[in-house]
Amino acid sequence: MTESLYYGEEHAAFRDTVRRWVATEIEPYVDRWEKAGEFPRELYRQAAELGILGLGYPEAYGGIEADIFFEIIAFQEVARAGAGGVNASLFSHTIGAPPIKFAGSEALKARLLPAILSGEKISALAITEPGGGSDVANLQTSARRDGDDYVVNGSKTFITSGMRADVITVAVRTGGAGKNGVSMLVVEGDTPGLARTPLEKTGWLSSDTATLYFEDCRVPAGNLLGEENQGFRLIMRNFNMERITLAAACAAFAQVCLDDTVAYARERHTFGVPLIQHQVVRHKLVDMAMRINATQAMLENLAWRCERGENPVAEICMLKNMATLTLEFCAREAVQTHGGAGYLRGSKIERINREVRVNAIGGGAEEIMRDLAARQMGW
Ligand SMILES: Cc1cc2nc3c(=O)[nH]c(=O)nc-3n(C[C@H](O)[C@H](O)[C@H](O)COP(=O)(O)OP(=O)(O)OC[C@H]3O[C@@H](n4cnc5c(N)ncnc54)[C@H](O)[C@@H]3O)c2cc1C
Repeated sequence: MTESLYYGEEHAAFRDTVRRWVATEIEPYVDRWEKAGEFPRELYRQAAELGILGLGYPEAYGGIEADIFFEIIAFQEVARAGAGGVNASLFSHTIGAPPIKFAGSEALKARLLPAILSGEKISALAITEPGGGSDVANLQTSARRDGDDYVVNGSKTFITSGMRADVITVAVRTGGAGKNGVSMLVVEGDTPGLARTPLEKTGWLSSDTATLYFEDCRVPAGNLLGEENQGFRLIMRNFNMERITLAAACAAFAQVCLDDTVAYARERHTFGVPLIQHQVVRHKLVDMAMRINATQAMLENLAWRCERGENPVAEICMLKNMATLTLEFCAREAVQTHGGAGYLRGSKIERINREVRVNAIGGGAEEIMRDLAARQMGW
């Protein structure tokens, strides 16, 4: 990926800082963390010191005013380590905390955001339920008002950072059926009645993923985000940014696949010549580069439009699918070109290949993205 017109000197300096940090503090340890099923909490504090966690938040809460391109850089540089699990959990606040920023009371923001942005507290977002994730408007976890509290009952599943999260932004039903009965509520990790169980996955091993159970959890009414029964819009707004950053990470993982495959194809000899001299292999590499460049261009153009205040929902859905299909193609060709070596644990491309599907399912599955894009375009 080359620098483009959207990035200035400050972006370049930030990229350089994050790149060096990823090379020294993440890459050497990824295999160990994948085996352990988590990375040290200290990583959040380091990321906070570099300004990564606070991007896009007001300084009053410990944030750093920054445009969307800084966030893209952060996601893409961390992705160079080739471990989606690190991206998923290290950045779980980018889905958990925005609803607090946009709709939390002053008191709630002042109490929670500085702790999240300094890496002291871990933030997660809980929307998906055992009964379904795609049909968000049909979620069942209930929050019943009782005096100064809400009483929460129900269950959430597949929650990233779910085991460790201190601040959980939960989508709940406070009203009748459908999207007009949905609210967003912050449930803190030490709330009595909250239980959690870990989930074993195919990939993203260094990210904890959990099922959460809420049994008569009493949550202060002040933890409501925005107005009661107005949470659906908040959720949809959140999805836009989640999809953009997920696409950014996918483009970067695809680039890792390309870079590592070019390096391998230069070294590996078959039939008396380096792999890269076989025309079939060269064509594969060009097809990878073509898809990555197209995805990156679409990503940056949409990011720029969002910066200008547009809300290109259909295009963001298409971008997400474009990015995950690019990743799918690049991971396939990377493993294939590595031959047997591509099937062994311990390389970036092997891990990335195991992580392809979660990107095409999480944050809005491929089919749902197509449906939403079509509806947005009036088809
Ligand atoms: C590792 C991991 C981490 C995750 N992290 C989080 C998180 O932090 N927070 C959170 O809230 N959720 C999280 N999720 C959940 C994720 O967002 C959901 O898995 C996703 O939204 C799909 O929901 P589902 O799994 O219930 O599938 P379902 O909704 O049951 O859908 C199953 C399949 O059917 C397809 N489908 C559904 N409806 C239609 C239709 N109308 N037409 C055609 N096809 C359809 C879907 O596209 C999908 O392929 C995570 C998931 C994973 C695997």
